[in-house]
Parts: sequence; structure tokens; C-alpha cells
Amino acid sequence: MITTLLFDLDNTLYSPRYGLEEEVVARMNTFVTQVLQKPLDECKKIRAERLPLYGTTLEWLMAEHGVTDYEAYFKFVHPEGEESALEPDPVLKQFLNELPYSKYILTNAPIEHAERILAKLDCTDCFAGIFDIRFNNLKGKPHHEAYQHVADTLQVSIQDILFIDDIPRYVQGFTNLGGKGLLIDQLNKHQQYPFAKITQLQELVHYL
Ligand SMILES: [Mg+2]
Repeated sequence: MITTLLFDLDNTLYSPRYGLEEEVVARMNTFVTQVLQKPLDECKKIRAERLPLYGTTLEWLMAEHGVTDYEAYFKFVHPEGEESALEPDPVLKQFLNELPYSKYILTNAPIEHAERILAKLDCTDCFAGIFDIRFNNLKGKPHHEAYQHVADTLQVSIQDILFIDDIPRYVQGFTNLGGKGLLIDQLNKHQQYPFAKITQLQELVHYL
């Protein structure tokens, strides 16, 4: 029985239309140019090739390019004010508050990013906690350990959690463990996605 809702943050709690994540990815690519000392186009191509082998860009850079100062990476990729394009979302807030389940965030970003986003959406109080990339020792989704670490910490079984994310392989990582995963695809990008999918967060009630 589902007792706990575990949400991704970016492009899950707010629309990709804000372009926020595109800006984050642009800063990641700029960071990659500084590490690899290659032109931007080449770095984008290399990142796209290597990323499927890792959970995050940071994990790739640490494994293959000797990056050790992850706090410098977080500072560069998630500067203050990164959330400025977002707006308070009273509809989301009411929806979440009326859901009689424990609600948590699982993000591959650092907690300061999650706190900024939630504050800007005015949804901070909707969640009982945030599990960020430091909590998972920099090895986040889709690694099994990341989801299991959350379940163990909450003392709930994976089967009792509904997990919602906008990235198919992050959903897959959770369902591979036996959990119930749901893709949120607000722009209908993944038309061939063969598993449970919603286009609006409110539709998740059909999976409870
Ligand atoms: Mg996301």
C-alpha cells in the first residue's frame, strides 16, 4: 500500500516551459569546457555520449576527468537567483497539502538548489524532507543505492513508495527495485514511453 510520495524536483514540480533546467544544463556545459579545455560544441557532444553511463554530469567528471572540488561545481551550476524565473504556485501547494501521504523530495541537485526552488514555488512546507545529492554521497538517481538509502532512512519499503520523475531512466531505476514509478511528461516528449505516465502532477491520484 502506498504510504509515501517521493518527488523529483526540477521539471516535475514546475513546468519545463520555465526553461530553468536548460539554464542549469548550459552552466554544466560551460563548466565542462573549463575542465576539458575544449570548445563548447565538442564538450556538449562528449557530455551527451558519456552521461548515459553515469547518474549525473558531476559523477562523470569525477570518474573520468579528475574533478574533486564538487562544492565549486555546485556553486557554479547553482548560483543564487537561479530560481528567479519561477513563480509561486498556489494550485500546486493546495494539491500537495490535500494529499494525505508523507511527501519527500529526491533530487540529484544539492539541497540549496531544492530549497530555493521550493521557496520560490511557496511549497516548502508541503514536504517533510529533501534528499539531495550529498545525502547520497554524490551517487544519486538512477543508482539503486540512492532510492534504497531514502527508503531505509524513512523506514518504509520501496513497495510503499510512489516515485515521480520526469527522466525515464530515473523512474526505471526505481521500478527495477520493485517500486511503483511514474513518469511526468508535461510537454509530451516521450510519446513512446511504455510504462505509467502522466502529463500533469494532479493525475498522480490515479496511481494511489
Ligand atoms: Mg527532473
